[in-house]
Amino acid sequence: MTRRALVLAELGLTPLWVRRRTALPEKETAARSAGLQDPAPPRSDANDRAAQIGAMDWPQLKSSVAACTSCILHKQRRQAVFGVGDERAEWLFIGEGPGAEEDARGEPFVGQAGKLLDNMLAAIGLKRGDNVYIANVVKCRPPGNRAPEPAEANTCEPYLSRQIELIKPRLIVALGKIAAQNLLGAEATIASLRGRTLAYRGTPLIVTYHPAYLLRNLTDKAKAWEDLCFAVDTMKSLKQSGLIPK
Ligand code: URA
Repeated sequence: MTRRALVLAELGLTPLWVRRRTALPEKETAARSAGLQDPAPPRSDANDRAAQIGAMDWPQLKSSVAACTSCILHKQRRQAVFGVGDERAEWLFIGEGPGAEEDARGEPFVGQAGKLLDNMLAAIGLKRGDNVYIANVVKCRPPGNRAPEPAEANTCEPYLSRQIELIKPRLIVALGKIAAQNLLGAEATIASLRGRTLAYRGTPLIVTYHPAYLLRNLTDKAKAWEDLCFAVDTMKSLKQSGLIPK
């Protein structure tokens, strides 16, 4: 068990979900079990790309995202929306993908849903850019504000993964089903994921409703408030433990 996992277990925050590794293609699995293939990890363009992105610093990562043409979402975007905020933030909020206003302005959560997110942050004493970073699962706007396809989210994943590695947040808040499912690699409802401390590669993660959903479902705002209070309590526990230094 890693030190981080031990600490989380000690705090009673043992992760219930961790992001699954990408499954090996069936042929490779069979070849390996038959001892016909070297046990070294398979090389592929996707692995090479992920490894390159995984070694980038902030400026390299920003340029790479800005110039990315790895999935079809680049075709209709005005610009890629990298993410915004304090690059050493303790809090990381992750949404789904840019909408029309974000695509126009180049910043996540600046439309109606963004206003609600800013209010949600203010309600727990937080402010965009101040110990808070905001990012999305995909960096380019899905046309017509549709949800990103799994293949698009997977192609964009190395960017988000590197952002998380560089920020080293104490706590991730997944906003909505798409963010939760992609970060956890699990098909599950928000209702089943709320109110628990989960984990993304060892970083504590909690799930709440997407602000755009809350704009359409006002009665669930009370549940989102519960989730925010839970996030604050979780952050307190993580900090008080002093065992996971920032
Ligand atoms: N919805 C999201 O998920 N992200 C944004 O940046 C804007 C709206």
